[in-house]
Amino acid sequence: RSDDTAIVMGSERLTYEQLEQRSNQLARLLIDCGVDRGDRVCLVQPKAPAAIVSMLATLKAGAVYVPVDVASPVARVEKIVTAAAPRLLLGSSDASQLLAQMDIDAGLVSVAGVLDGAQSGPRDADGYDTAALPTITQPSDPAHILFTSGSTGAPKGVVITHAMVDAFLDWALPYFGHRAGDRISGHPPLHFDLSTFDIYGSLSSGAELHLVPGNVLLPGQLAAFIRDSRLTQWFSVSSTFAYMTRGDAVAQGDFPSLERIIWCGEVLHPTVLAYWMRRLPHCSYTNLYGPTEATIASSYYDVAAVPEDETAAIPIGRPCAGEEIRVLDEALAPVLPEEIGELYIEGAGLSPGYWRDEEKTRAAFVTDPGTGRRLYRTGDLGRRDEQGILHFVGRADSQIKSRGYRIELGEIETTLATVAGVAETAIVAVPSGGFDGTVICAAWVSRPTAELDPKRLRASLAEALPTYMLPTRWLQLPELPKNANGKIDRPALREKFTPGSGDD
Ligand code: AMP
Repeated sequence: RSDDTAIVMGSERLTYEQLEQRSNQLARLLIDCGVDRGDRVCLVQPKAPAAIVSMLATLKAGAVYVPVDVASPVARVEKIVTAAAPRLLLGSSDASQLLAQMDIDAGLVSVAGVLDGAQSGPRDADGYDTAALPTITQPSDPAHILFTSGSTGAPKGVVITHAMVDAFLDWALPYFGHRAGDRISGHPPLHFDLSTFDIYGSLSSGAELHLVPGNVLLPGQLAAFIRDSRLTQWFSVSSTFAYMTRGDAVAQGDFPSLERIIWCGEVLHPTVLAYWMRRLPHCSYTNLYGPTEATIASSYYDVAAVPEDETAAIPIGRPCAGEEIRVLDEALAPVLPEEIGELYIEGAGLSPGYWRDEEKTRAAFVTDPGTGRRLYRTGDLGRRDEQGILHFVGRADSQIKSRGYRIELGEIETTLATVAGVAETAIVAVPSGGFDGTVICAAWVSRPTAELDPKRLRASLAEALPTYMLPTRWLQLPELPKNANGKIDRPALREKFTPGSGDD
């Protein structure tokens, strides 16, 4: 119903009718600003109902939105905006400081403030017609581009089409039974792939989307949010569950309205899952697995009972309808059940590739020599057991997850290598111990006269990389350990970073 609540954040609330009308008005303003089918619109705004209005308006104008992480340093935001080559930026006053610092192509039009009543000026959308616009996009058109860490130093953009999102929702909505009375969490930032499910899963079911405000951070605050918003679904990266468990934030029988607990993006430690399942026996528990390149998730596994063996990893399950996951060897031949191979994804969820990067696209999206079908090479190692259930066993490369963020260690390494005075550097990740994931460690060799210390190096890196990519352990070495081929001996380096040995 049009007066049902669509989005809630703090004291802000938008009904379905308001969301429809505001996004129609803004779409017309975008078209007036010259936005055409296929153009990119960068959203330089924090998570808020206005950002969702911006997304819908961009799609209604036939264009492609690019959500930007406003917490990133200006240099990285500029890289992303420049790569996206947008027709315009859609900002809000909360991001005005960042917008003011940005040095972008003169051809771009900034409409900062367009969504804020207080700042409404000539570019205010209020005066535009609220009626629906004709659809001008095709399912195969890009809907949004999500930039993720790139191993060669620059973030890479994953193109997500309308059809990819539809394919996931076609499976997920009936599977989870989304309905109009649902109250769904919006916890991840809007440049995270997971948020796509929150937004479109909720809005296409007539449910309420409850965006978690940026100041709701501590375990107890997150628990209070779930409780007070009477959420029926909580979907988040695994590290949020671990964080809330460490803070012992969940009481026995807590969150009585909560029905579904879903996680994705990282390994969830069974000890953490057991904590939640014991306290909240009234909820269902589903592990979703998948990369951004196949939007949101490609496989699922429902956990029916509290894990008895808390050392046995939780399976990633079976492919979602419309997707297939292959376990292949280096020659792209299937491996036997129980054997470890690399996971390749096939089907309706696959991205057309990386934004304006044919080389990376060719390397990651390959053709199955047997079937001629397109496959995405995930870089994940896994096995399929005798029952046909998939298990994730790790990475084949140096991509890691830290607090839900996908990080290519190569991006940190390339950036650190450009800091003046650094002769050589290597970044490795080591397990943090417990169930908290990984710690990023930096080893460096100084040039003879350079006066460098971890504090300075960290400060230099912070100008180019977001906080979650900054190493927390540092080690200066006279030279990096090398193997017989002259390559950096990363296993040897990881040993030097055993917990507690660095300058945390
Ligand atoms: P992203 O593109 O940020 O969604 O990251 C995708 C990567 O996260 C995958 O290739 C896996 O390495 C990891 N990942 C995603 N879901 C899971 C899961 N349920 N369990 C373990 N790792 C996961």
